[in-house]
Amino acid sequence: MDKRRILILGGTTEARDLAGRLGERPDLAVTLSLAGRTLDPAQQPVPVRTGGFGGAEGLEAYLATHAIDLLIDATHPFAKQISANARTAAAAAGVPLLRLERLGWEAVSGDRWTHVTSVTAAVAALGGMPRRVFLAIGRQEAKTFDAAPQHHYLVRSVDPVDPPLEAPDVEYLLARGPFAVEEEVALLRTRKIDVIVSKNSGGDATYGKIIAARALGLPVILVERPAVADEHRAETVEDAVRHADHLLASFRKRGV
Ligand code: NAP
Repeated sequence: MDKRRILILGGTTEARDLAGRLGERPDLAVTLSLAGRTLDPAQQPVPVRTGGFGGAEGLEAYLATHAIDLLIDATHPFAKQISANARTAAAAAGVPLLRLERLGWEAVSGDRWTHVTSVTAAVAALGGMPRRVFLAIGRQEAKTFDAAPQHHYLVRSVDPVDPPLEAPDVEYLLARGPFAVEEEVALLRTRKIDVIVSKNSGGDATYGKIIAARALGLPVILVERPAVADEHRAETVEDAVRHADHLLASFRKRGV
């Protein structure tokens, strides 16, 4: 039996879980693609390829060369470029595309959220008066906050922010989630944080700081995701497995 070939664009817990689910099936050959940003990436349950493809054209060529039957974009909700490339490449190569994107967090009673649409807008939302800011948006866009050097920043990321911020009052914390609520409460207290900046990433691994902020009555500036329309979408790994089977079946029927 010819195995159906799946390429998963990853870099998220969901991508790893989905790869584990699909990778154990004898009818599927699954490869997981990572950008190669993290210096010490987590172990993955299927073969991994690492590094950029060279834009949408490079990804299109990869799909053709490796005879991929299904492309699954399970990248982070804020990884905009690779998702745009996936849409372009899949359409050009005639390969079905499934987007796995976990739901964002919804405010509950006690949350004090300010919604913004970009990291730049989050900088402005901090205001002019100096504040003690917990910056939990990852390292790639942390330098945007150089535009507001009056604040104290506690920057937490998996890998070091390099080059570091130019703002004068910055403390760096290297850590990889998941983060327990009690630890987040302790961190916010000991560092005397008075506002948190976070992306609305959704999921459990980084939700602890949101619960901690609620418990302490602290405001959160929440960067919302870009709105996109994908034809085939799943919000959970379970859902993605079902969609993947459906797409593989209809793709074969069309005889492409
Ligand atoms: P991005 O801005 O959307 O992508 C920039 C470029 O990185 C892409 O054009 C592509 O290069 C390459 N790339 C990204 N993801 C890739 C993948 N899974 N496999 C191969 N190449 C990939 O992406 P990003 O925001 O830098 O995120 C990079 C990775 O970190 C992603 O895998 C994402 O899931 C993960 N991540 C991102 C965030 C976040 O907040 N953005 C948070 C947690 C994890 P080419 O054009 O050369 O193909």
